[in-house]
Amino acid sequence: MLNRIDLRDAATSAAIDRELLPRAELDVEAALEKVRPICEDVRHRGTAALVEYARRFDGVRQTRTRVPAEALARALAELDPAVRTALEESVRRARLVHREQRRTDHTTKVVPGGTVTERWVPVQRVGLYVPGGQAVYPSSVVMNVVPAQEAGVGSLAVSSPPQRTPGQEWSDGLPHPTIMAACALLGVDEVHAAGGAQAIAMFAHGTAECRPVKLVTGPGNIYVAAAKRLLKGIVGIDAEAGPTEIAVLADEHADPALIAADLISQAEHDELAAAVLVTPSVALADAVDAELTRQVAAAKHHQRITAALTGRQSYTVLVADLDHGLTVVDAYAAEHLEIQTERAAEVAARVTNAGAVFVGPHAPVSLGDYCAGSNHVLPTGGCACHSSGLSVQSFLRGVHVVEYDREALAEVAPLVVTLAEAEDLPAHGAAVQARFEWKVPPRK
Ligand code: NAD
Repeated sequence: MLNRIDLRDAATSAAIDRELLPRAELDVEAALEKVRPICEDVRHRGTAALVEYARRFDGVRQTRTRVPAEALARALAELDPAVRTALEESVRRARLVHREQRRTDHTTKVVPGGTVTERWVPVQRVGLYVPGGQAVYPSSVVMNVVPAQEAGVGSLAVSSPPQRTPGQEWSDGLPHPTIMAACALLGVDEVHAAGGAQAIAMFAHGTAECRPVKLVTGPGNIYVAAAKRLLKGIVGIDAEAGPTEIAVLADEHADPALIAADLISQAEHDELAAAVLVTPSVALADAVDAELTRQVAAAKHHQRITAALTGRQSYTVLVADLDHGLTVVDAYAAEHLEIQTERAAEVAARVTNAGAVFVGPHAPVSLGDYCAGSNHVLPTGGCACHSSGLSVQSFLRGVHVVEYDREALAEVAPLVVTLAEAEDLPAHGAAVQARFEWKVPPRK
């Protein structure tokens, strides 16, 4: 079922050319042209524009975006108790992990009388986007809100696309009830029913109902990614998280049925989702293909899954051996990487480029999607070679606080003057000398 890329002869080349490992063709530039007028319109017309786009893109009637408090409370009261229990456990585990990420302020004594303190300050107000087009993601509420809360963000707003009631051509647009319930469970009281580029523009520019935010986080489709790219600068962004990706590095000891199940689990997200198997074993590649054919036929979203698995972005890479496989997965830099090999932990320890690594047969990516405690908003499109997933750190800024007394400044003043003159910026040196009436006193 999967296309095959045979790199066994390329094992000796030191670097793997990225071109050999294709990804989904995402024309963000074309999407930019589409979202530019949407974002401008939201900037000028605010809620009126959002209401119009909700009608056009989401097929719902709205008069406002802000979800009333009663709707949030009702969604939580009506939440299936089993889903509530699962969400609560997901939150508990995510809190355990994210709480450990909190940094404490640290003061370095550089010289006697001279210190630099690094203070970690939360972003004041953030906008958290929770996708809700082809699938709804209450889990993304948890993954966005928990690190923001653990970072101490004072004001946070969630936005998610309004949903059409099945069987009803037009309905009053609210986010999916499970998303509203997850927000209520986490104590989030500002929730907006807005999706796509227009939601990102609402966060960046603000409307009568939504004050502008300083930072937008969360995954989304190509329109969300394009709007983030367009509005970056007006507002901070976490990353342009694109369609989900799974890579599996496996040897002949792996179970092909489990690998197929895991590849399908991510292909289920999106027709552009990528599922990549990297293995030195042709027998395993054949067995995974057979399992995919069998399991996809029985899957609920088999059309979407088939489109994802047969797209240019999904394939099996045949490698010479596991060392070569590690070179390939590092070059690919997957959002999610599973290691399904003998001594999986040792192999995993050698991986450098991946958004998150799932080790051995009992840590499937779906565990991380919901309940591992790790975050599921992760870098896609190869960005895992330079970026991290969402964390408490994403919501903090490090501020250096510099304190020097007169003697400490006096000691270093000649060096500042020298460097300022070397850069032909004499006013910099003069500003230091002015403290000493143009005379740098010697240190006692
Ligand atoms: P979405 O909420 O991102 O997008 C839905 C919105 O797109 C709609 O509300 C609509 O306003 C807008 N839209 C739809 N068609 C449009 C058009 N023709 N022009 C302009 N705007 C349009 O939901 P989605 O589409 O389901 O995408 C979610 C994405 O997020 C998927 O690719 C999924 O794989 C990804 N995801 C990633 C992670 C991660 O952590 N990386 C987690 C969950 C989901």
